[in-house]
Amino acid sequence: MTLNAKITEIREKFLQELKLAKTSRQIEILKISFLGKKGSVQSLMQNLKDATQEQRPLFGKQINDLKLEITSHLENSLKRLLLEEETKKLENEYIDVTLPGRKHFWGRYHPITLTMNKMIDVFVSMGFAVEIGPDVDSDFYNFEGLNFAKDHPSRDMQDTFFITDDLLLRTHTSNVQVRVMERFKPPIRCIAPGKCFRNETISSRSHVFFHQVEMFYIDENVSFADLFATLNEFLSKLFKKQIETRFRPSYFPFVEPGMECDIKCIICSGQGCRLCKGTGWLEVFGAGMIHPNVLKAGGIDPEKYSGYAAGLGVERLAMLIHQINDIRMFTENDMRFLQQFSL
Ligand SMILES: [Zn+2]
Repeated sequence: MTLNAKITEIREKFLQELKLAKTSRQIEILKISFLGKKGSVQSLMQNLKDATQEQRPLFGKQINDLKLEITSHLENSLKRLLLEEETKKLENEYIDVTLPGRKHFWGRYHPITLTMNKMIDVFVSMGFAVEIGPDVDSDFYNFEGLNFAKDHPSRDMQDTFFITDDLLLRTHTSNVQVRVMERFKPPIRCIAPGKCFRNETISSRSHVFFHQVEMFYIDENVSFADLFATLNEFLSKLFKKQIETRFRPSYFPFVEPGMECDIKCIICSGQGCRLCKGTGWLEVFGAGMIHPNVLKAGGIDPEKYSGYAAGLGVERLAMLIHQINDIRMFTENDMRFLQQFSL
């Protein structure tokens, strides 16, 4: 076969295959098979070697022309196909700006967190500092330093989750008291919010896991009157209205004298309901004057200083604020319940 015939054959084969190429990728493959090192056009160079001296320039020009022709066809097709592909891609990515937006699910704070934050805000506005203590603590900070006798029933396995003989899940956030006394000198005005754990039977009123804000103040000449004033002020700020309170003498090892603060049931306004067990009153705090032994355990001279302390139940207050009559609602993760609370 003459060189001319070969060139014609390659050109026709190329034009035929070019017609079939529908993508930029196929054009690339075509380029390799015709113009590549082992491609059809390169193979013509073998024929050039066999040609006579006179024929060579002419044949060389013919091969070169074929190369240029194929290159030009390939470039045009590639340009056209790339444009088509880009247009198609953009069409597929078209965004309809008139479509309604997707509804996002907004997370919310848990009602206990909301109530605790409110309590913290009120106390901070009254000049109290916030201290955090460990959930797992030693017997000393949870019991002994707080004047709990060795045989006090609270230490019993029935009430306390012990981890070892000396380590336990704190039963109140009062474990922060002695820790703070060790680090700071009076005047100390401090709250300790956090989780507490007690091995109790779960019911509508009590749970094994709950939250407390411990509040205490130590300075010279701190009196019971200061405690009443502080609690009344706190309650009226928290509920944003005057709250009727009642104080009853009570016993806690870490206070002397000790008392319980009741507030008039907000659900039934004192008429008697399931939450207040028909009494019209709700026990919300245990409080009192810090026992001299507790001050001593914290390295503070009880002859010179006195102080008051109160342990406020967050669940109890949240139930009052939101009129919830079962403490178990807080831990059941029922979205229909949880979604009702917001800032
Ligand atoms: Zn009631």
